[in-house]
Amino acid sequence: MTASILKVAIDVPLDSLFDYLDGGFDVTVGQRVLVSFGRRRQIGLVVARVAESELPADKLKPIEHGYVDEPALDKSVFRLLRFCADYYHYPFGQALLAALPSRLRQIEPAVSRKQFAYQLSPDADIEAIPRRKIVQHKIFAALQLGELSETALAQLSASWRKAVQEMQEAGLLQAREVLAGLKTGAGQLPSPELNTDQLQAVTAISSAAQQFKPWLLYGITGSGKTEVYIQLIERLLAGNHGQALVLVPEINLTPQLEGRFRSRLPHLPLVSLHSNLGEGERLQNWQLAQSGEARIVIGTRLSVFTPLKDLKLVIVDEEHDASYKQQDSMRYHARDVALVRAQQEKVPIVLGSATPALETWHNAQSGKYEMLVLTNRAVAQAQLPQIRCIDATRNVLQDGLSQILVDAMRERLARGEQSLLFINRRGYSPVLLCSACHWIAPCMRCSARLVVHLRQGRLRCHHCGHEQKIPPACPSCGNTDLHPTGHGTQRLEQTLAALMPEARILRVDRDSTQRKHALNEMLDAVHAGEVDILLGTQMLAKGHDFPNLTLVGVIDTDSALFSPDFRAAERLFAQLMQVAGRAGRADKAGEVLIQTAFPDHVLFNALRAHDYAAFADSLLQEREIMQFPPYSHVALLKAEANDYALVQRFLRFAADNARALTQKVTIYDPVRPQMERLKGMERGQLLMHAADRLSLQRLLHPLVEQLRDHPLNARIRWAVDVDPLEF
Ligand code: ADP
Ligand code: ZN
Ligand code: ZN
Repeated sequence: MTASILKVAIDVPLDSLFDYLDGGFDVTVGQRVLVSFGRRRQIGLVVARVAESELPADKLKPIEHGYVDEPALDKSVFRLLRFCADYYHYPFGQALLAALPSRLRQIEPAVSRKQFAYQLSPDADIEAIPRRKIVQHKIFAALQLGELSETALAQLSASWRKAVQEMQEAGLLQAREVLAGLKTGAGQLPSPELNTDQLQAVTAISSAAQQFKPWLLYGITGSGKTEVYIQLIERLLAGNHGQALVLVPEINLTPQLEGRFRSRLPHLPLVSLHSNLGEGERLQNWQLAQSGEARIVIGTRLSVFTPLKDLKLVIVDEEHDASYKQQDSMRYHARDVALVRAQQEKVPIVLGSATPALETWHNAQSGKYEMLVLTNRAVAQAQLPQIRCIDATRNVLQDGLSQILVDAMRERLARGEQSLLFINRRGYSPVLLCSACHWIAPCMRCSARLVVHLRQGRLRCHHCGHEQKIPPACPSCGNTDLHPTGHGTQRLEQTLAALMPEARILRVDRDSTQRKHALNEMLDAVHAGEVDILLGTQMLAKGHDFPNLTLVGVIDTDSALFSPDFRAAERLFAQLMQVAGRAGRADKAGEVLIQTAFPDHVLFNALRAHDYAAFADSLLQEREIMQFPPYSHVALLKAEANDYALVQRFLRFAADNARALTQKVTIYDPVRPQMERLKGMERGQLLMHAADRLSLQRLLHPLVEQLRDHPLNARIRWAVDVDPLEF
């Protein structure tokens, strides 16, 4: 008898596979199937074929459909997700299906459709569109500026497809078939000659290319790391095969990197994968990666799970970046998963950073990773910016700005150069304060304060999205003198405008960049010299290159120096190094002024000396004394419900059981996190701390089983966060 039983993974919160009969479809392992599960029909993935089931034959149902025309998912991706499901204690089926493009989670067969781009017909007349067809009017207006892809149209309206169809029937539109996804560059830009450090890096990595080996490429911004990636890929993918996976922390960074790779490596087809792609485009790019046609895949976090036919090299750029950590569902860290993947597929992995994560630094120091250092900025005349602290306790601050900082900006303005004023986002948003009774507008659903958005006249919760009008009077005492307090970006914008009325100020934050492409338009304006002062949050810190920017001012950093979160200082240092890197990239020397009440703090001393190594070593010593990661391993059990008593009962149960299960892991008592309430849910967490990974994992497996069986399981939302980044 042939192996006619299929082991199928389904998107359900159970960590098991389900047996079905093939039913004559003849599906292969790795293909999708449609099955009935309970009362629903679900998409599943065939993980294995076996001869026998533990279930009695009459209990086995045949699959309803097998998607036999689709390419099967590669075994290596199964293996990677199997590892992740185990390590992060997340149901395998859910992990597996979440890694697929959404089109592959739908019941309709996922033949990748042809993509079209649309433009207006030469004689198209807007009068032909009935007034009430708002979407059509919107599309018409957008097309007057030029051709649009399906992805772009989908961003205009959810019902664009119907509108476009009607407009086509009315002869208003012309469609053109486009080869979506697989774009290659036009002409090739010449490669610069590598400097000694770069050459050494490329040579070392490529000479050990047939094996798993982690490399830390350590070099400040502008030291030529990206150039190393490019020439390394060129070498390792020479010949007509091989693929490289390049992870970047943020969607905003993919277009830049994409452009650079395309113009330098036009012969290597490249696709990008990130959440800003339309569903169709995402599927297509994913399939091009799977088939091996795409030679370079650039993507954010989730793309670490992309099936690749012939992986030769993994690169994780800005490996220290916290956005590699998924904060819900399966809480994986893409850098760590990339390391596992490289190990499983026996290929080298390059972790690039100017400020490596302490874990990575530790591994490089201990010899687990090999470190390659790029010592200087790659462009000879580009100098390091001078970093100075302004003692905020001795300088009078006007609306949070010291005179020294304002003068420095005025100087730049007079010279026709640009300044960047950087605010650390966390906790510095303006809140609405009553001057009489000190009432502060709270979010009713979170233990957070509402943030004032003056321009829109609204209050918003940055955690749950709740929004309301600014009240005319204090709800607590009736006082009408309510005013925003704190240095939000909008507030600062007003202050700066008053101080320097002639300056052209551009604010870049989450609000001002909400619209699609807004950020890119803003960046273009900066490049075009249409902006004198840039004001913004960490969105500006990363990857952007402004040659005429010579001053970076930093305010509001001090709370991170004394945060209860032991990673706060590490993050602040990385962030400040990164913004400092924005100053003086070309031939102009840059200056960085940091306003702080603690100018002698070791963090600032190291920063002034551009000495990450010194800072990292001092942090590591501290962590060793405290036995914090990387000298220990932690997991958090997070739970929330509408009633804290339930959460507490659940966490106490977990703590008691954990203590009974092992003595090798320290189990703390349940506590409430800093954000006690979120979106109306009361939250609690339990910290588990072990000297080694294995003891922690040995505890978590049986513990998670017990929790899944707990009677409160249905009434509590809970999750295990292994190697959490935030506490
Ligand atoms: P990083 O990725 O470390 O920030 P980049 O690779 O972007 O650094 O390099 C910074 C700048 O220096 C870029 O404009 C790049 O084109 C240029 N560059 C890099 N390597 C060289 C080189 N060997 N010779 C000349 N210019 C280089
Ligand atoms: Zn009041
Ligand atoms: Zn809220």
